[in-house]
Amino acid sequence: MYCLRSKLVASRGALHIQHRLLLSGQIQLSASDRASRAISSHLHKYPNISRKFISTETVNTEKPTVSSKFGRKVVIASSLIIGATTIFAILNHKHAEAENNKQESKKFPSSLKRGGPKNLLVADHLIDEDDSDINKPRLVILGSGWGAISVIKALERDKYHITLVSPQNYFLFTPLLPSATVGTLETRSILEPIRSLIKGISAHFLEAKATDICINEKLVELSPDSGEPFYLPYDKLVIAVGSLSITYGIEGIEHCHFLKSINDARRIRKKIMDNFEKASLPTTSPEEKKRLLSFIVCGGGPTGVEFAAELYDFLTEDVVRYFPLILRNEVRVSIIQGQDHILNTYDAKISDFAEKKFRRDNINVITNARVQKIEPNHIVYKMKDGEVKEHDYGLVLWSTGIAMNPLTKTISEKLEDQKNTRALITDNRLRLKGVPDSSVYAIGDCSTIENPKLVNQLMQFFVDADEDKNGRLSYNEFQVLAKKISRRYPITKSHLKKADILFASYDKDKSGTIELEELNAMLEDIDKKLTSLPATAQVAHQQGKYLGKKLNQIAAAHNAKIYPPSSDYSTDTDKPEPDVDDLLPPFSYAHFGSLAYVGNAAVADFGTGWTWMGGMSAVYLWRSVYLSEQVSFRTRALLALDWSKRFLFGRDISKF
Ligand SMILES: Cc1cc2nc3c(=O)[nH]c(=O)nc-3n(C[C@H](O)[C@H](O)[C@H](O)COP(=O)(O)OP(=O)(O)OC[C@H]3O[C@@H](n4cnc5c(N)ncnc54)[C@H](O)[C@@H]3O)c2cc1C
Repeated sequence: MYCLRSKLVASRGALHIQHRLLLSGQIQLSASDRASRAISSHLHKYPNISRKFISTETVNTEKPTVSSKFGRKVVIASSLIIGATTIFAILNHKHAEAENNKQESKKFPSSLKRGGPKNLLVADHLIDEDDSDINKPRLVILGSGWGAISVIKALERDKYHITLVSPQNYFLFTPLLPSATVGTLETRSILEPIRSLIKGISAHFLEAKATDICINEKLVELSPDSGEPFYLPYDKLVIAVGSLSITYGIEGIEHCHFLKSINDARRIRKKIMDNFEKASLPTTSPEEKKRLLSFIVCGGGPTGVEFAAELYDFLTEDVVRYFPLILRNEVRVSIIQGQDHILNTYDAKISDFAEKKFRRDNINVITNARVQKIEPNHIVYKMKDGEVKEHDYGLVLWSTGIAMNPLTKTISEKLEDQKNTRALITDNRLRLKGVPDSSVYAIGDCSTIENPKLVNQLMQFFVDADEDKNGRLSYNEFQVLAKKISRRYPITKSHLKKADILFASYDKDKSGTIELEELNAMLEDIDKKLTSLPATAQVAHQQGKYLGKKLNQIAAAHNAKIYPPSSDYSTDTDKPEPDVDDLLPPFSYAHFGSLAYVGNAAVADFGTGWTWMGGMSAVYLWRSVYLSEQVSFRTRALLALDWSKRFLFGRDISKF
């Protein structure tokens, strides 16, 4: 023990000199040097405790006191911490060295080759690839929104060489975007960096825009913000690029704000504050004040309604506290809606609740009105009865629905089978129509599932179902058929659920059986009732999850050469090799309800007439649903903090 102590004391002297040299930059310390330095500095800091611990000179024969016991514990704990830190530092150093060596020993091909229809560089290797990526099928996902992230979250590591491509390197939680326009939530609280989301499955990320796809060559053309365009090869491609706002070619649309991106929210927040500050100037005329403080929302869907509600909260909770009171009386919020009611896709009770609430809050709801043009300072709209009206504004938000983005438009124009002008058409397995080999999928807002024409398959359905071949379907045969159709086409599920009621209502001649004409009438009616799925985060999320899981199954089946058995939902194909995709179940959407915030109150429509409308209790439900839907613990914590911060201190009204 004594020997150890004298060694340490001697090394303290040496380290003192070394420390000075280090400060003057003359020597570099290794990890083990750093560890010795830590011990030495410990000796400097706690000379008595340390000496007592290592010395044999003053052995205390009395019973240790409480303080000496405590001192001993502190010394043991510190030594353990120092020891662990030292080991960690050494291991870390070794790991970093090994990583560096690995990187250096890796031979990246010095340059990319050119190819494809436009003779661009072909990125057949990426700079962060490693050996485990080689020989895996290449899965390229376009987009970093709801659809893309849900695919990523469902994918298993090691099945594919995955590359995600998007011009934005974050995921945006769109349902809370209206809250970011007035500072209820900070913009960063609703964003999650993509790289942190893809790390778990060792995927790669490229910040670029996809501008085209070459179906035959299996190449995606990418355009980075700066730098030359290039091709990225794929074996499987998922298109999840979302949509743009539909503008109907309205004249003067450039004067409007949109609410699709985080920058839109930032711009709106700044504009609102700009208008309030300008209106507070003594030189601003009363007419100009009125105009600046007139906020118009075009579109009475959930986004428009939630923005109006957030604006109202901001006015009543913050503007009144900080701005001249006189301005409060000048503020006007209006919603211009083309339909009879706002929130018209929700249950009628909900529309009614929201309209009454807005009326009480002095939000001007103008229904049955179509915007004709937007001048720099006023908007022109036409009422259903033909009357044309004008309205001054300081800010207009345009939120009336969705349209194709440039990539989806390009793809749609390329493919014969794509005739829809709003979205890419897929089959019910989410495969892009017009691509024969199940290599391209489209999900989310940029796509729509083609509804089956049941009536076109009438004969096949009837013959298959008529087991006893007597030319009519008994109730049992009909029930089996109804199940089979709803398994193969899940979108028909809700229409075929009550087989007994259907059977009774289409058995027109009350024969106790369904004949061919009766089945024909039923299928025609169902075809008419089928609608497209809404463009919501809920749909994009479920599609992404379904696709991610399916891609895992496809890779596993190909690796093991074991294919799933054919069943009710299998598609009959004459392909020589089994297409696993045809054997797996189609996509089936389950609606869990729609929520909307209406200003210190919220509404929920769970479908089939079940609704919930209320004040703060509904707001807490709304918040807890969104908290649970977060893609990371980080954003969950930030949201909770923002809501608490707003409650305690109000919204931040600084403008920058
Ligand atoms: C303000 C607002 C509020 C909403 N509220 C709700 C709600 O409460 N509930 C609900 O269910 N839905 C809501 N929605 C709708 C929901 O956000 C969309 O339905 C959902 O985002 C669709 O997901 P997506 O993956 O298809 O597209 P997005 O989430 O829009 O993602 C598209 C992604 O593709 C990227 N991209 C675009 N072009 C390219 C390209 N050329 N190449 C590569 N990447 C590209 C984009 O950067 C983006 O990352 C709201 C939408 C908005 C705007």
